[in-house]
Amino acid sequence: MAEEKLIFELSKEGREAFSLPEIDVPVEPIEKLIPPELLRQELNLPEVSEVDLVRHFTNLSRRNFGVDNGFYPLGSCTMKYNPKVNEEIAQMPGFTAIHPLQPEEEVQGILELLYNFEQYMCSIFGFDAFTLQPCAGAHGELTALMMIKAYHEKKAGSREQKEKNREQGSGIRNKIIVPDSSHGTNPASVSMVGFQTIVVKSNERGNVDLDTLKSVVGDDTAGLMITNPNTLGLFDEHIMDVADIIHQAGGLLYYDGANANAALGISRPADLGFDVAHFNLHKTFATPHGGGGPGSGPVGVTKKLEPFLPVPRIIKEAAHYALCLTNFSDSIGKIHSFHGNINVIVKAYAYIRSLGAKGLKEASENAVLNANYILARLKPYYYLKYDRTCQHEFVISAKWQKEKYGVKALDIAKRLIDYGFHPPTIYFPLIVEEAMMVEPTETESKETLDAFCDAMIAIAKECETNPDLVKTAPHSTPVKRLDETKAAREPHLRWNPGN
Ligand SMILES: *Cc1c(COP(=O)(O)O)cnc(C)c1O
Repeated sequence: MAEEKLIFELSKEGREAFSLPEIDVPVEPIEKLIPPELLRQELNLPEVSEVDLVRHFTNLSRRNFGVDNGFYPLGSCTMKYNPKVNEEIAQMPGFTAIHPLQPEEEVQGILELLYNFEQYMCSIFGFDAFTLQPCAGAHGELTALMMIKAYHEKKAGSREQKEKNREQGSGIRNKIIVPDSSHGTNPASVSMVGFQTIVVKSNERGNVDLDTLKSVVGDDTAGLMITNPNTLGLFDEHIMDVADIIHQAGGLLYYDGANANAALGISRPADLGFDVAHFNLHKTFATPHGGGGPGSGPVGVTKKLEPFLPVPRIIKEAAHYALCLTNFSDSIGKIHSFHGNINVIVKAYAYIRSLGAKGLKEASENAVLNANYILARLKPYYYLKYDRTCQHEFVISAKWQKEKYGVKALDIAKRLIDYGFHPPTIYFPLIVEEAMMVEPTETESKETLDAFCDAMIAIAKECETNPDLVKTAPHSTPVKRLDETKAAREPHLRWNPGN
């Protein structure tokens, strides 16, 4: 691939990216439109012709990797295909040309859509109410933990009562338990609301170790945050026992449903005993994310936590939809300006409506089937720490390759790029050494899954016959291995003349 110059390097004085005739109607002088103190005379902007401009950005875009040009099995992150019909619907002017400050009666349509979306989420996951305000999974976690905190504070009663408890040595509920397989955002969110994280280990089957759990719960337990199926792609076989242990200790159960791809139409977190959960529309409900768009992380609650939901809430009175701020004195307040990332919700709404209940269930069944198919094909070639039927994703390891040939998960990931695949998530979850976390999603064909397996198997063979080839990969990309530490620590995000 030829080296792509910077647009500043392509610049030639006097070139312009358009050619239009001189304006022959009166125009306001620029000084009248823009305050003179904001007008700059010298602007170092690139000067290129239209064709050079279009080629430059088209060439750059072709170096990007996305779900629209290849298989992207990034475990936990769910890079599933984003049906284009959802994009078209979300671009309809009825959705894009409205303003959040418009009077209620002018935006009944979108309020109805949001109200119905909450109802769908309630029925899919079993909860009693939802907030659609949070704009990411981590934002949903924060919202939920704030509600958990508000719930315990309300229960603990007045300040005097709390002082009394403290004097008597009985606990303030400020500890959140998370398994050692948890997503990194979980302990981070716990800290943000001022709770402490207690980590419990997983047992040899990848479930929460019940004895350890029993030994850490107490009257200081605010709750437990758990992903199920967890980040190993395994369904906790004793989840009901986990729920009982936490509830008996007076804690609440939080379900990190960021990636609920195995659950749709199959298991509902509220039925399993969970009190609160968040769900990423940008994972499970096919809305683009990463470089492709913003997220949305709605939070569902059972009756117990409903009074604490953020405001405003959408209320239906006869045939009228209203945004209601009052009557919710226990609410944690607003956690986002206006109503969240509405455009993302419209796409997820379209996804749910186009699949229907049957289609959603099939999506989960196919996601699980696809993951198990790849796992079965790769098992002879890569170490598998927890040998169980997986859910929508699984974690294999480069342990054998590292021990025998000094090839690491990172090397295998880089080599996959040469084969035309986006690498899986690596080095997560932390409890599997040299982890490679694969999530194929429901939309891939058997041919694509086979091509990926063939590449992974070919790489396993290369590790034996030519380990250096793998260790120095990628060989096919415009840039080779990047210094990722330097990129993270000393980012240069802006081009300036002379550097
Ligand atoms: C992706 C993910 C999150 C965080 O979601 P963001 O939208 O990236 O903030 C949390 N938990 C799990 C299990 C996830 O997969």
